[in-house]
Formats: sequence, C-alpha cells, structure tokens
Amino acid sequence: MIIIEPHIHMYSRTTDDYVRMYEAGIRACVEPSFWLGTNRRYAGTFFDYFRLILDFETVRARRFGIDHYSAISVNPKEAENTSLAFEVISGMDEYLDHPRCIAVGEIGFNNINKKEEEVFAKQLNIAHMRRIPVIVHLSHLEKVKAIKWTLDVIKNEKIPEELVEIDHNTEESMPFARETGCYTGMTVYPISKLTPERVSGLVKQFGNERMIINGSADWGISDPLSLVKVCDFMKKDGHPEKAISSILFDNPNAFYSQSSKWKPDFNLKPVDPKEFQR
Ligand SMILES: [Zn+2]
Repeated sequence: MIIIEPHIHMYSRTTDDYVRMYEAGIRACVEPSFWLGTNRRYAGTFFDYFRLILDFETVRARRFGIDHYSAISVNPKEAENTSLAFEVISGMDEYLDHPRCIAVGEIGFNNINKKEEEVFAKQLNIAHMRRIPVIVHLSHLEKVKAIKWTLDVIKNEKIPEELVEIDHNTEESMPFARETGCYTGMTVYPISKLTPERVSGLVKQFGNERMIINGSADWGISDPLSLVKVCDFMKKDGHPEKAISSILFDNPNAFYSQSSKWKPDFNLKPVDPKEFQR
C-alpha cells in the first residue's frame, strides 16, 4: 500500500528516517511550518526557515525516494506575538507562491485567546483568497473550547469547508468537527496524543470519509512510521483494506489535490548516495 504522510516535520528528522519511511511504503509527505523549540525573534528567521523547508528539504527527501511538499504559516505557538506575526504574514506571499508550497499551515489556537484568533483568522483568509488547503491545529489544552472557537473562526471566514483540515482531534472534539464538511485529522504519537487503538475506535464511530491520520513526527518523542503502525493495527482490528487505504492515501490525496501544485510522483526511487550532488 502506498502511504501519504500528510503532516511531518522532516526538518528535525534524519536521513535514516527517510530510508525507513520509504521502505515502509511512504512515498509523499507534507511538512507544515512549525515551532522550532524557541520562539523566533525576527521575521527573517521565519523566511529562511520557509525557504529551507521548500527548497532544501524537498531535494533531501527526493534522494530517498519521497516527494516532499510544504505548507507555510506562522504556527500557533508563535501567534501571540502579533506584531511579529503580522510582519511575517505581510512577507509570506513569495513563499506561498513557491512551486512546492501547497497549503497554509499549521495555524490555529495554542493558548486559545484573542491574540491568536487574530493571526489565525488572517491566515485562514489568505488560504480562502488563494483557494488552497489549510491545516488547522487544534489546541491540546482544552479540546472542546478549542474546537468550538475554531469552528466559529472557520464559519466567520466562510471558507469552503473542504479546504480545511482540522488536525489533532480526539474523542472530545470529533463530534463537533464531524458536523462540518472539514477534513478531520488525528495525530498518532508514541506517548502523548492518540494511539492506533484510539484512532481505530474513532474510525469505527465516525466512518472513514474525510478522515486523515497524521504522524506529525518532529524533534519530540515521535515516530515517522506511526502511520504504518496504525495501518497494521486497523487491519487486525477488522477494518477493510479499502477503508484503510482511503485514510492513508485517498483522503490526504484528495485534500491536497485542491492545490494545483500537488502532483506527487509516487514512483520516485532512492538515489545511490554516490550520486548525491552537493
Ligand atoms: Zn505539526
């Protein structure tokens, strides 16, 4: 089965991870803009990071047989510094125009407050105006408060709901998210967030339509093969192969296909390291 990893931060992963991902059947991935571990102090630091994930990371991934795309944004963790956030947003167009940028994201709430709402709403509007997909991060603090406010922001913007993926859903937020036409994401992590068992249960409860699973591996305790483990668990848990492949391939493919730039080559082959060019 070919797998699309719809959300992973390869910036902080090694080449060994790319090798293992390829061997496990992952052929394309999307890297949303994230928090590097300390808050950035300059707009230029964001811009250099955008360039890195759009240019360098794409080339690095390709050497290992994986087609890599990115999403650009001021992430929720850094949205409270509104003056810096708006300075970054005002310079974001050239990165959004980049051939490897297929979405806005991740955006949304972290501490769930008015300042974050301003930055979230502005970036949601950019995705709306450009008619491109947008990845919305659901705060880990209070899921019900976060989903309700997130849905208000989405409804106020009147963005077509199929352009939006609401990520990091749990049993608490999913009933609200599934009432919309948004794609609904679940993040699987080794020790926090969801386990394969919980994902399987949520799919049984809510169906596989518009469901997306994200590994979201980054610099924390995380696993670039999360999706493969979910796939194995769901098979054992009685889900039909078709339902599993819709979640691991068809749904993320349909979501990102709303960007005309998403044309992944699933037939890439790893390059012999001797052929690598600097
Ligand atoms: Zn992320």
